Amino acid sequence: MAAMSLRISAQNSNPSTSNLLYRTSLNNYSSRATFPVKTGRKRFDSIRASGLNTSTSTAAFDVVVVGAGIIGLTIARQFLQESDLSVAVVDAAVPCSGATGAGQGYIWLIHKARGDKWELAVRSRQLWETFAESIQDEGMNPLDVLGWKKTGSLLVGKTPASSIMLKEKVRQLSEAGIKAEFLSSKELLVEEPALVLGKEGGQPLFLMTINWMLNVRLRTLRRFLRANRRFATEGRYKEYYYEPVTCLLRSGSSGEVQAVQTSKNTLYSKKAVVIATGCWTGSLVQGLLRDSDIQVAVPVQPRKGHLLVLENLNTFQLNHGLMEVGYVNHQAAKLQSTFSDSGPVNHAETSSVSMTATTDASGNLVLGSSRQLVGFSTDIDESIINRIWERAGEFFPTLRELSLSDLSKSREVRIGLRPYMPDGKPVIGPVPRLSNVFVAAGHEGEGLALALGTAETVVDMVLGNPGKVDCSPFALEGR
Ligand SMILES: Cc1cc2nc3c(=O)[nH]c(=O)nc-3n(C[C@H](O)[C@H](O)[C@H](O)COP(=O)(O)OP(=O)(O)OC[C@H]3O[C@@H](n4cnc5c(N)ncnc54)[C@H](O)[C@@H]3O)c2cc1C
Repeated sequence: MAAMSLRISAQNSNPSTSNLLYRTSLNNYSSRATFPVKTGRKRFDSIRASGLNTSTSTAAFDVVVVGAGIIGLTIARQFLQESDLSVAVVDAAVPCSGATGAGQGYIWLIHKARGDKWELAVRSRQLWETFAESIQDEGMNPLDVLGWKKTGSLLVGKTPASSIMLKEKVRQLSEAGIKAEFLSSKELLVEEPALVLGKEGGQPLFLMTINWMLNVRLRTLRRFLRANRRFATEGRYKEYYYEPVTCLLRSGSSGEVQAVQTSKNTLYSKKAVVIATGCWTGSLVQGLLRDSDIQVAVPVQPRKGHLLVLENLNTFQLNHGLMEVGYVNHQAAKLQSTFSDSGPVNHAETSSVSMTATTDASGNLVLGSSRQLVGFSTDIDESIINRIWERAGEFFPTLRELSLSDLSKSREVRIGLRPYMPDGKPVIGPVPRLSNVFVAAGHEGEGLALALGTAETVVDMVLGNPGKVDCSPFALEGR
């Protein structure tokens, strides 16, 4: 969004309102450089933009949600189910076209620690479980509907240094009522025959806990969309896709945001605007408010991630979600951006790879993952794919017997831009001095895991209900 310029002009953009509206706009927003771009295979062909609004018009809703990733869609769902408010969802592209579509689809809890996000993670996990149960209660199989499978997960470490951390994890998870235990080598072999840790640093260490796997890319999202669309017949729901938000229209008298301007429509919001645009949130908010009297920074950055998906690898199946202990530091690491003001940065400092491995609901092996701060590009970096493959081979020696180039026909690479916050916490709350504009972004590698708690929190804030979790660490002020 570097090429954006801003104009604030007073204009009476809607004759039906007596307020003078100030238009805070992004000129030159047609630059697609920072929008979700697809690479590799075509994705989400089965998520159609049905009910898509194609006309250019003005419409009014109680709530306008900007961004149709997992965060925006679950917020819309929560409003529709927990209130009688009407909701519009707007996206620059189609649902799931951002980070959500690239994710591994796993509700990881195993690597989380007590801290600011803990309550939100535990609450989200409860809500996911309730959601899956509700599907079962309707006589459907959560595996078919959501790709929902309780697999259990393993956090694996090879070195003595990992042992302190794993012991602490067992204690923390057990304290929180989450089953966690060490497995002996023998037990591990039964649980996960393909995993070979070796003994290079001493005792092999493993921690097991119960997590959930979701095929969030298609099945879960489809479910959310279908559930949301049921409210369309009541006139409470509408989708606006391929419509980047370009302006916020503010009341001349109160300064409150009254409408969202997309490339095609003016969408009035009577109660709230929620900005859930993932890694684009920082530049979007900055652009929308630049030159206004409100100085707010949402320092979300795109943190690129590659996943390697191998289809029909029948000889290799995992029973659990696996993650190496090093993932914890990998996620928390503050990599330098190649956009550093101090000039070009060494590639090694801008990228890291640690092993995650799952078998998805379709039986594909999903190997991850990488982290890079290299801007908004979603181009494939083959050197990163090779590093992911090599790292996986260190844990699963049978993979070393296969050549990645021989697997090219059954290979898919997923690339997504995680919404990275330098302090490791998402932003969930109102924009200071714009009390009816809320931001929900910056979930980095945990958007799926934290989605339902985030949605509940946002809706409680807008409705003025008491929150279920302490959301003060996620406020925008001072970030
Ligand atoms: C490789 C990888 C693996 C991952 N694995 C997991 C995992 O196993 N578990 C987990 O919990 N998380 C995982 N994540 C993280 C998770 O995918 C993200 O945290 C989550 O998808 C973020 O969701 P979001 O809705 O905030 O953003 P996004 O999904 O990026 O959605 C943002 C939306 O905003 C839209 N938008 C942008 N600008 C505008 C505009 N101006 N106007 C309108 N719309 C706009 C975009 O088109 C996009 O659809 C993974 C991520 C990656 C990259």
